Amino acid sequence: MQRQFIYTALPARVVFGVGALAQLPAELDRLGAKRALLLSTPEQSEAVRQVAAALGSRAAGVYDKAAMHVPIEIAEDARRVARELQADVGITVGGGSTTGLGKAIALTSGLPVIAVPTTYSGSEMTTIWGISEGETKKTGRDPKVLPKTVIYDPELTLDLPASVSAASGMNAIAHCVEALYAHDGNPIVSLMAEEGIRALAASLPKIIIQGSDVEARTAALYGSWLAGCTISTTSVALHHKLCHVLGGFGLPHAETHSIVLPHVMQYNRDAAPEAMRCVARAIEAVDGPRGVYELEMRLDLPMKLADIGMKQPDLERAARIAAEAPYPNPRKVEYAPVLELLRHAYEGRRP
Ligand code: NAD
Repeated sequence: MQRQFIYTALPARVVFGVGALAQLPAELDRLGAKRALLLSTPEQSEAVRQVAAALGSRAAGVYDKAAMHVPIEIAEDARRVARELQADVGITVGGGSTTGLGKAIALTSGLPVIAVPTTYSGSEMTTIWGISEGETKKTGRDPKVLPKTVIYDPELTLDLPASVSAASGMNAIAHCVEALYAHDGNPIVSLMAEEGIRALAASLPKIIIQGSDVEARTAALYGSWLAGCTISTTSVALHHKLCHVLGGFGLPHAETHSIVLPHVMQYNRDAAPEAMRCVARAIEAVDGPRGVYELEMRLDLPMKLADIGMKQPDLERAARIAAEAPYPNPRKVEYAPVLELLRHAYEGRRP
């Protein structure tokens, strides 16, 4: 029997497909925007300047200092630039870091954002913002930061390096997995989650062999859109909590998600059997947690927290922080088993 649920849809407009970036001027027209501030990381400065050049006089300026986890100094600097340029829209060209900067500007000014994602983070579909100050990261949900339009153009992802593609794709799969067992999940989100995992698990192995495979890139972007949709209205659980905590230890975002995911799934295995069955079906594996682990091995991803900068003595502190103020999770979050989970992730043990 279907359990009770509440479903909230967010007002999202998605323009999807090879060559979709050509729709950007029309999307500016829809918003009545005439002075765009374009945002990127320093690494994508050239790409964003090409987009700006194509917009001509409607590009009021480029700010290319976006950085991981949106440091407060950068957010404030970008807000100042947006004010000085009298920008009436922000256009983000990049991954979750750049989308996050656009959201940080929107949070205090209401500046509408058009997101052009170039990774699989899914941030562009969510109302979740994050700003870091020193070692702590504040996050929240606010409808103001949700991009007005998202333009998914697979051509912009052809140069995304194999390792970033794989890790970012697993970050998206993690969104889907947690949506499948979210305490406030619902059947529509579960459909999107399973389909998102299916699309990503089928396309990522092809992408790491040939990054210019447009069909695989298109499928991965489709999967990441679905993944973003899944966490846009459901709560995240132990996995995202742990990754948030580990981010505070300076670990890289997408790789941390990838390493931790099979171990959190193992932790939740008996408490969320239907979710595990969905994942196994989507990745065509016999077992969900082991199947995800094996997929990551095929993608040549780092498999141990030890290999991405985690220090063994910090495991206990991380487990304590995660267990102190846990998010709702299918299995009770307790210090000792969470520490064991982290030790397995530290060693990269097969679930
Ligand atoms: P990222 O945005 O930091 O990008 C990683 C690197 O890849 C950057 O140097 C970037 O410039 C480069 N890059 C991106 N696209 C490229 C392309 N197509 N070709 C070449 N290089 C490219 O990484 P990410 O994993 O997308 O984002 C991580 C951030 O997003 C974290 O801060 C995380 O907290 C946040 N995030 C937020 C949400 C949300 O809902 N708010 C969801 C997921 C992630």
